Amino acid sequence: MLPTVLSRRPLASEFDSVQKRDVDWADRRAFLKTAGVAGGLALLPMFALEAAPLRYTLKPIEIAPGAWMLLGVDEAITRENGGAIANITILDTREGAVVIDTGPSRRYGVQLAEVARELTGKPVVRAFVTHFHPDHVFGCQPFGARALAAPQGVIDGLNQSGDDFASAMYYLAGDWMRGTEVVLPGRVVEAGYEDIGERRLRTLVLGGHTDSDLAIFDERSGLLIAGDLAFLDRAPTTPHADLSVWQKSLKTLDEISFASLVPGHGPMEKAPRALRQTSDWLKLIEERIRGAFDRGLDMSEAMGEPLPSWTDKIALARYEFERSVMHLYPNLEANLWPRVDQAN
Ligand SMILES: [Zn+2]
Repeated sequence: MLPTVLSRRPLASEFDSVQKRDVDWADRRAFLKTAGVAGGLALLPMFALEAAPLRYTLKPIEIAPGAWMLLGVDEAITRENGGAIANITILDTREGAVVIDTGPSRRYGVQLAEVARELTGKPVVRAFVTHFHPDHVFGCQPFGARALAAPQGVIDGLNQSGDDFASAMYYLAGDWMRGTEVVLPGRVVEAGYEDIGERRLRTLVLGGHTDSDLAIFDERSGLLIAGDLAFLDRAPTTPHADLSVWQKSLKTLDEISFASLVPGHGPMEKAPRALRQTSDWLKLIEERIRGAFDRGLDMSEAMGEPLPSWTDKIALARYEFERSVMHLYPNLEANLWPRVDQAN
């Protein structure tokens, strides 16, 4: 019997392990209450004993004169790492500090602003957001909408999904998220160039990892800050991916004569290995998942498909492959299974 395909849609959340009904606003309020934020005064004495102030360990790595990165850990978001898994870049300019991505929480953003001021001696005058995933965007609050800049597609995506992401982040990262809310960037980034102080930044408005992905090339340092269009030694995430668009974006980035590349996750390198490895990974998961689908495997069987040995050195390879099966199978089913209501 042919399966019926009704209205299967791709999963809307980055956090597909978390069902939306599990992390709705009621749960978030419940969490805040338990944490003694929104009432729950009776809990305070007990909490006061346990609650050490959470603080991220931010260690800037100098990657070019007047440029630093904060290296995210190669892990999924947990209550231990507070969601600090993405790379953040800081640039010094005559006009002030520029940051690219803001981290996972208000708390992170506050610390990022402090680090940027310590490194440059100046406040942050511009904070670019590369795409709407929460590990890159929820540190925006301290910078204010006027300093925040992103392509229109990123702003629209945040406007649409930001509250759901926030709920999921409260669920996953817990108290690290206290006080974090969605802030929409007030500046729209177009493809082109922007001069900030002595730095000319080329802004590339691309897509594929999500509907809208910003990459920034700093002509002065030769740094290409690729956001999540590039991953290195950490498996790429695909909850909102269009694999063919992503491959085109990787080609566009490969045509730039950059000195070094900062991926969204993983170490900076002078060689374009992150672009090649990301492209290889996307090809691999497309072929493996399509092959499993064509052989009639169900999703859980597809998740167990073998991976080649070159992926052994890639952090979270099996975890992200399984998640990609969950992201991509519904599309394959919707596009390739015949609809019984139309066949009859
Ligand atoms: Zn992402």
